[in-house]
Amino acid sequence: MRSFVLERPESLSGAFDLLNEYREKALVKSGGTDLIVWLHKSLVSPDCVIDLSRIDQLKGIAVLPEQLEIRALTTVSELASHPVVREKLPALAQACLAHSDPLIRNRATVVGNVCSAVPSGDMIAPLVCYDAVVEIANASGSRSLKVIDFITGPKRTALSTGEIVTGLKIPLNEGRSSGSYLKAGRREALDIAQAAVCCVALEKVSTEFRISFCAVSPRPIRAREVEKLLNDSGRVDDRILELAADLAAGAVDPITDVRASREYRLAMIRELTKRAIAGCVAELEGAGRSE
Ligand SMILES: Cc1cc2nc3c(=O)[nH]c(=O)nc-3n(C[C@H](O)[C@H](O)[C@H](O)COP(=O)(O)OP(=O)(O)OC[C@H]3O[C@@H](n4cnc5c(N)ncnc54)[C@H](O)[C@@H]3O)c2cc1C
Repeated sequence: MRSFVLERPESLSGAFDLLNEYREKALVKSGGTDLIVWLHKSLVSPDCVIDLSRIDQLKGIAVLPEQLEIRALTTVSELASHPVVREKLPALAQACLAHSDPLIRNRATVVGNVCSAVPSGDMIAPLVCYDAVVEIANASGSRSLKVIDFITGPKRTALSTGEIVTGLKIPLNEGRSSGSYLKAGRREALDIAQAAVCCVALEKVSTEFRISFCAVSPRPIRAREVEKLLNDSGRVDDRILELAADLAAGAVDPITDVRASREYRLAMIRELTKRAIAGCVAELEGAGRSE
C-alpha cells in the first residue's frame, strides 16, 4: 500500500478546500469498509484520504414533509432501526439487514454503498425502487440525481472531481405499501449477493409495483415490463407470476464470476422475483402496512 496523507476536516467547507487542493488525487472516506480494503489491495492509490467522519452536518436522518433525508454518514445499522424506514420503506429495512453482519453494518454507510457503485451493493435496488435522489455538493453549489442515474456502471458514478455526496432523499408514499428484498448468497451473513430482487407495492389510486435487482446487471435497472404486467393485471395469480419471472430473466444480464454462474443467477432471479411479488401481494391483501 502506498503512503498517503489522512485529513479529518470538521466542516464541509474544510473538506471542499482539501478536494480543491488534491483534486483527482484525493478520495473521501465514510465508514471505510470498502475504501480501506481497496487501499490495502492497492486497487486505489490516492495522495490524500479525506475522512468525513467528524463532519456533524453529514450525520443523522431527518423526517421531512413527504420525504426522508438520510445524511451521508448514516450507517446501515442506523437506517435499519429507524421507525419510519421500518414502517414506510420495508424493502430498504430488509436490505439493510441483508448487508454483511452487525459489526460491519455499524460502520458501513448507506451513501458509501451507493458511491462504491458495485453491482452487488445491497442498498441500491431498494433505493431505486423507492425513487431515491442523491444530493451532491461542491464548493460552489449543489445538484441532485436519482440513484438510477447516479450509478453509471460497475464502480462508476456521475460524481465529478471536487464533489461530495451529502445525502439521499426518499419520497414517502402516503398510502399503504409493502416491500420485499430477497437475496441469494452462499451463507446467511458476511456474503455478497449472488443475486437479489427488490419488489415494492405502493397503494396509490391503484397498486403500483416497482421491481429492481442486485448483482445481475452492470448498472441499476427497473424491470419496467414486469412492473407494467403487474400494474395492468388487476389480480396476481400463478400465471402472472410465471410471466413476471420470464420477463425478469429477460431484463437482467448477469455475469459468471467466483460467486455464481450466469445460469444460476438467472434461475435465482426467476424464483426470487416470484417470491418477492407474492410476498408483497400477500402483505397488502392481509394485514398490510398502514400509515
Ligand atoms: C466484511 C465485509 C462484508 C461486506 N458485506 C457487504 C454486503 O453484504 N453487502 C454490501 O452491499 N456490501 C458489503 N460490503 C461492502 C461495504 O461494506 C459497503 O459497500 C458499504 O456500505 C460502504 O460504505 P462505507 O461507508 O464503508 O464506504 P467507504 O469505504 O468509506 O467508501 C466507499 C466508496 O465511496 C466513496 N464515498 C464514500 N462516502 C462518500 C461521500 N459522502 N461522497 C462521495 N464519495 C463517497 C469513497 O471514496 C469510496 O470510493 C462488505 C464489506 C466488508 C469489508
